Amino acid sequence: MPLETYRAKRDFSKTPEPKGRDPRPRRRGKATFVVQKHQASHLHYDLRLEIDGVLKSWAVPRGPSYNPDDKRAAFQTEDHPLEYASFEGVIPPGSYGAGAMIVWDEGTMRITEGAEDPIAALSSGKLAFVLEGTKLKGEWALVKLKGKKYQANEWLLIKHRDGYVSADWDVTEEAPWSVVSGLTLEGLIEREIRKLESVKKPEVRGPK
Ligand code: MN
Repeated sequence: MPLETYRAKRDFSKTPEPKGRDPRPRRRGKATFVVQKHQASHLHYDLRLEIDGVLKSWAVPRGPSYNPDDKRAAFQTEDHPLEYASFEGVIPPGSYGAGAMIVWDEGTMRITEGAEDPIAALSSGKLAFVLEGTKLKGEWALVKLKGKKYQANEWLLIKHRDGYVSADWDVTEEAPWSVVSGLTLEGLIEREIRKLESVKKPEVRGPK
């Protein structure tokens, strides 16, 4: 079951995250990608690529960089359902991944290396792709780290050299907001607190 791990980690009566439908492989058209900025126990950026009907996912602690010399650690996590791409909100305390999440970037994705069989490319540990997002553009690669000192989920996210590279423009610093709501993580948290404060509490009536 492709989403078994994703569902086993979550209690959908508690988290606002989507349970998701079962994988629906896309036969034509461009695939989607999303990057969600997630303030869990540690801040990270979740890069998700639509492959084989699910969102293949990596947690990137420092986020993407337009500098090809910045090789950003990326830890592969469980496959997420396609519906997850639009999730923005607060995962409640006690739940897996508790904390706030915004849709930091989204758009379309086209595999440039490994396209004929992306699953085999992931198994062999190299995938290159072009992103057409609001913030992320151009060609990027995910390369798996191999060797005894690395764990099985350790990859690197690297910007390929093309017309979009920049050695000194930090996209995570310059563009911290959600491309869906315009909110920063802090703004989203403030909005959620205001919602909680506006909830009318029932009056307590004493015994008659
Ligand atoms: Mn995450």
